[in-house]
Amino acid sequence: MKIKFWGVRGSIPTPGQKTIRYGGNTPCLEVRPDDETLLILDAGTGISTFGDYLMERNQSVKAHVLLTHTHWDHIQGFPFFLPANHEHNEFTIIGSNHNGISLQRIMSDQMQAMYFPLQFDELKAKISFRDIGEETFTIGSTTIDARYVNHPGYALGFRITHGGKSFVYISDNEPFNKEQSDSDLNKVEKPVVELFKQVDGNPNSRIADFAKDADVLIHDSMFTPNEYKHKAFWGHSDYRFAVEMAVQARVKKLILFHHGPHHTDADIDDIVENCRRELLNKSHKPECIAAAEGLEVSV
Ligand SMILES: [Zn+2]
Repeated sequence: MKIKFWGVRGSIPTPGQKTIRYGGNTPCLEVRPDDETLLILDAGTGISTFGDYLMERNQSVKAHVLLTHTHWDHIQGFPFFLPANHEHNEFTIIGSNHNGISLQRIMSDQMQAMYFPLQFDELKAKISFRDIGEETFTIGSTTIDARYVNHPGYALGFRITHGGKSFVYISDNEPFNKEQSDSDLNKVEKPVVELFKQVDGNPNSRIADFAKDADVLIHDSMFTPNEYKHKAFWGHSDYRFAVEMAVQARVKKLILFHHGPHHTDADIDDIVENCRRELLNKSHKPECIAAAEGLEVSV
């Protein structure tokens, strides 16, 4: 499989001189298994530039778009994804609905007339939806496992397996602590909270088990440990937690993702260095890099 990163930033696009190396677009990954299928993970603003690239190739596009969740930074690029407005293209959008509000409605609503000049039902491509929860399914010869993670609303992580190799994509996730009060957890939907509470022992083994022995773990590392002290319950991790999950899961490579919008290129360089230093003292030492726009990784 080949993965290409088109957007790696969390929360809000961050263009400018200080973010030019890692990039300012919000999440979007292109995934090419070794068959004819195309998977797109998340539709943050990075999907707009990916769409321009697809248009330049002048070929019809058939793809599955897997959404971790529907917060703005993961869907806001979709109205600007030009291939969705061309006949002969075909997309299946896959993700969790929200307490009975369908994925189709959530995606259509962001293109209502008061938000956007073009409405969803005017798009010319053939677009279908598939609402999923925690489940396993296949696309071509690729297996997808979806698991709810600890983030406000219903957010999924994906484990993608093809040809005996697998990578895990957990864009937004916070360490779960069983001592947290219900009011602290009130942004995460109750059924998801219950899934974590049901775990014997460390509830975060839900995440580590999901990523067990994966070739690559792409994980939220939005905060430094110091920042996290003031940002608990925002639904994100500090980089030490991403390292901990990679070590517990014994993955081969950790890719830090969903960079904080306030982090400059130099800040992210420091975070990578700190993670590598942390790993020196661990029993398992995966390679550690930070996701950057344009980065391509073979799995
Ligand atoms: Zn996000």
